[in-house]
Amino acid sequence: MAIESYENLIADLKKLRLPAMAEMLDSYVKQAASTSMSYMDFLSGLVSEEVRHKERRGVESRMKSARFPVIKSLDDFDYTFQPSINREKLDELASLRFIDNKENALLLGPPGVGKTHLATGLGVRACESGYKVLFTTLNDMISALMASMADNSFPSKLRTFVLPSLLIIDEVGYLPVSKEGANFLFQVVSRRYETGSIILTSNKSFADWGEILGDGVIASAVLDRLLHHATVFNIRGESYRLREKKKELVKEEKKEVTGHF
Ligand code: ADP
Ligand code: MG
Repeated sequence: MAIESYENLIADLKKLRLPAMAEMLDSYVKQAASTSMSYMDFLSGLVSEEVRHKERRGVESRMKSARFPVIKSLDDFDYTFQPSINREKLDELASLRFIDNKENALLLGPPGVGKTHLATGLGVRACESGYKVLFTTLNDMISALMASMADNSFPSKLRTFVLPSLLIIDEVGYLPVSKEGANFLFQVVSRRYETGSIILTSNKSFADWGEILGDGVIASAVLDRLLHHATVFNIRGESYRLREKKKELVKEEKKEVTGHF
């Protein structure tokens, strides 16, 4: 290929925002010249470089805007440690059909049993599959909405919690919620009802929600909408964090014991 037409083609590919095709053009031209690559294979190979590049960029940007505090994968979850989790139900969630169906998932259980890990793992999978995701704790969501009241940006802030295909609300129940905060949660949940999925984690059982939200009527209105189309996991088990800690202590004890003899 003449230098001039090569350079023109590179410039045109960049104008069309096809950077991966521009980047890979040279190596494809060389490969085509030295093999019997057909025109069809040449073009489809180059186009699929661009498609893969755009897919990778899409996942990266969705992962960034999801704001996961720590990245966790479902593949790293040890199910044998948490036998109270119904694996079939979780696999069904991992298929992400619940997002297409605008359904919810509630992960309940004491600290350390993997609620945040599972919620994040499902969120990461959703990002990888092209869904827009946002991760927040209940407290952060309420604070953000509260702050937006002050500068009149409430409607647009509310939209940030309503628009993603999947909203993960972590840590419901650890901190008490003000009456206004409970109201914000109700608004988010009712705006998302049958229009977008929520994964919510809590260390409290539903019976305690009246107390958490400081209002039994709002609590049942929120739960009513959340639970209408939802999968609920009651995780009963030991804390993974404590198990890790115990292992360390046992190791140290052993060291001390062998040190004495
Ligand atoms: P929770 O949100 O229920 O308090 P986390 O999901 O934050 O608990 O889990 C605490 C820590 O233990 C995290 O680092 C998490 O990755 C890890 N963890 C919890 N359960 C498991 C498990 N079954 N397999 C692997 N890691 C786990
Ligand atoms: Mg947690």
